[in-house]
Amino acid sequence: MWLTPELENICKALDTEKVVALLAPSFPVDFKFPEIILQLRQLWIDKVVELTYAAKLINMEYEKILKENPDKQYICANCPTIVTMIQAKYPELKDKLINVASPMVVMHRYIKKEYEPGYKTLFIGPCVAKKMEAKLYGIDYAITFQELQAIFDYNKENNIPHKQHFEIDVTEAGDWDFDKVYNDYTKIYPLGGWVAETMHLKGIATKDQLLAVDGPANVDEWFHKFKENSNIRFLDILMCNGGCVGWPWIVSKDAIEARVQRVKDYKEYCKKDKIWAKLGKFEYSEGLDITRTSEAIPA
Ligand code: SF4
Repeated sequence: MWLTPELENICKALDTEKVVALLAPSFPVDFKFPEIILQLRQLWIDKVVELTYAAKLINMEYEKILKENPDKQYICANCPTIVTMIQAKYPELKDKLINVASPMVVMHRYIKKEYEPGYKTLFIGPCVAKKMEAKLYGIDYAITFQELQAIFDYNKENNIPHKQHFEIDVTEAGDWDFDKVYNDYTKIYPLGGWVAETMHLKGIATKDQLLAVDGPANVDEWFHKFKENSNIRFLDILMCNGGCVGWPWIVSKDAIEARVQRVKDYKEYCKKDKIWAKLGKFEYSEGLDITRTSEAIPA
């Protein structure tokens, strides 16, 4: 077994740089919680955060935009494959892409603002398209779940000892938990339809004004439906079946339903968390730029 030059470089960076891992919320499909937190810390990653706080900020911004623009239609811009498809194939829909960046980008900006200078960001997520998006938005490093698993496997096969900045105390709850800050109800954000489901739209839009869809088979049909039906205020769309859990080259080979269930189980499991100390409040991000760029995702 060997590592690609890109992964070798990232492993070297982990040895010498202060790195914050931004873990995509579909991680329970491929990794166990809370073990994954410890595994990442053992790679000498300083801090591990999830994207749920950014998802909450994004939802709040969506709600504001929809409220202030009752006559306009919007398309969710969280999935870079959808954004790229619109830019290439449906230019007439470009101005309907909501001007809000994805959870990965928003959390990256928050970390850069919140943590002392010098911290690098490493996004760990399901898909290659996110790596392209990471490049566009200046995220320092990005790897897929498969690549993270390759690093774990390589280290195990070559007896590379765990690296530790500090003595990890397995009885110390903090070492097993995400660093601040996070949010509870957006833990299911990567599942198809759950962006719309987690928005608070009372008095802003009705259920039949939302179209929540996922999977590649009928994408063209949904874009046509959206274009032809001005009653649809918000198109919540993800390219993969079931949402990000359905990226075909995720490590897990389980059925989509089982992957979806794992994310839902994780959310339930976390209900017993004492989240309040680390709950991300809106005011923490005052002044943070959460808009997206109109530039095309690099190929
Ligand atoms: S839906 Fe698929 S292509 Fe889109 S961001 Fe998620 S994993 Fe990537």
